[in-house]
Amino acid sequence: MNLEQAKQIVFETIDTLFHLNAASALMGWDMQTMLPKGGVADRAETMGYFGAEQQRLLTAPVFLEALSVLKEAGAELSELERRMVVVLNRDAERLRKIPPERYRAFHVLVAKGESIWREAREKNDFELFLPTLSEIIAMTREFIDYWGAGAHPYDVLLDHYEPGLTVEKVDALFHPLQEGLVRLLEMLKGGKAPSRAFVRGSFAVERQKTLSLKISEALGFDYTYGRLDTSAHPFTVGIAPTDVRITTRYFEDDPFSSLFSTIHEAGHGIYEQRLPQDLKRYGLMSPVSMSVHESQSRFYENIIGRSFAFWTYATPLFAEAFPEVFAGVDAEDVFRAVNIVEPSLIRVEADEVTYNLHIILRYELEKQLFSGALEAKDLPEAWNASMQTLLGLVPPDDARGVLQDVHWSSGLFGYFPSYALGNIYAAMLYEALRRDLPDFDRLVAEGEFAPIRAWMTEHVHAYGNRIDPLELLERATGRAPDVEPLLRYLEDKIRRVYRL
Ligand code: ZN
Repeated sequence: MNLEQAKQIVFETIDTLFHLNAASALMGWDMQTMLPKGGVADRAETMGYFGAEQQRLLTAPVFLEALSVLKEAGAELSELERRMVVVLNRDAERLRKIPPERYRAFHVLVAKGESIWREAREKNDFELFLPTLSEIIAMTREFIDYWGAGAHPYDVLLDHYEPGLTVEKVDALFHPLQEGLVRLLEMLKGGKAPSRAFVRGSFAVERQKTLSLKISEALGFDYTYGRLDTSAHPFTVGIAPTDVRITTRYFEDDPFSSLFSTIHEAGHGIYEQRLPQDLKRYGLMSPVSMSVHESQSRFYENIIGRSFAFWTYATPLFAEAFPEVFAGVDAEDVFRAVNIVEPSLIRVEADEVTYNLHIILRYELEKQLFSGALEAKDLPEAWNASMQTLLGLVPPDDARGVLQDVHWSSGLFGYFPSYALGNIYAAMLYEALRRDLPDFDRLVAEGEFAPIRAWMTEHVHAYGNRIDPLELLERATGRAPDVEPLLRYLEDKIRRVYRL
């Protein structure tokens, strides 16, 4: 096989993979928004088939031969082609080591897992979920053996979501993070706690939806190439940059929850919409890592959406939509009300400070699960003990404890750390962005979000998967991952909210 033939095979495979991924993404979106309950089992089989098909393409002998021809060509390739080879090689290596029938079985298992988890959580019955969870963990351990464990068996799972990430690197960030957060929680005890007592009443869902649409559009989510729908758990699916689906959920008694979910998902969605379409041919029209993805959603949700400047912009919109509650309310009052810090049981409802402790809890449990120190059946007890240590609370039941998150039912082990890393990265990007846009606060207060979005596109979105995440951060911020910007940002906010 000569170089030209090899390139043709690789480009064709990338094209086919793009279409398979697009179809899988759409089926996944449908599964969480529209699919009738009775359709779950057959859909799981179909998604298993698509997963297997992707593995088959990336491990086909002719494709692997083409890839090795390209690897040998080295300097004859363009920079983009060389990067394409690195990324494809990473994926192919991962898939090649797993027997196809096991890979397909795993896809079917996790596609069914979600509905079993959902029922278990509704019935507050961990035993109902335990057999499935045990099987998912056993299969994940089996896969780790195929891949070959690094210094820690969990490393290979972390690497999946953020190439190059290891337990050693995460520990080096999470230990000082935990210390800093505990210090902040101590600090705010001496402050004046804000109140959200004025947020009382019934907030019509239609009006909440109008606000969500208007504000997400102002932030830069483009509805010509996107949709906003409703789901039990808000999420984003990028089918292509021209078709990005975000979801939110509405509560009649809380006008903020739907908005923050929408802004969070819009942050993900803006990234997906701004991916460089000229990299599609190389298979690099994709986000660089889950943590960087999460840095975008966190940046929009928290750093913009929970800032005083943002509420200078948004309070009048709320006063228009819900005059009975917000007419005459100051931006300062809303700003303080949406930044109350208080240890709580549920991760997705946690404030910016304690949120990271919820992630550290899951990270520590996952490490133990894969080092063999913890078994699935012992998770509820281990969960409750960690909650007591980290947040000083004990869940009254498993629905509000170990059963609260969907991730494990989908086999997403190694994923949780990306949420806290996303917070760390978002604060690093924010410091760099403020240096370039010193009038950030004025722009936000006036609803002029375009320059901010343009900065993120230039420094994050436009790369696609052209470089590794740490290099992207280094170029954008001039530093290696570091928790200080996040701790500084949180301390500033706490001082302001708690009047310290
Ligand atoms: Zn997110």
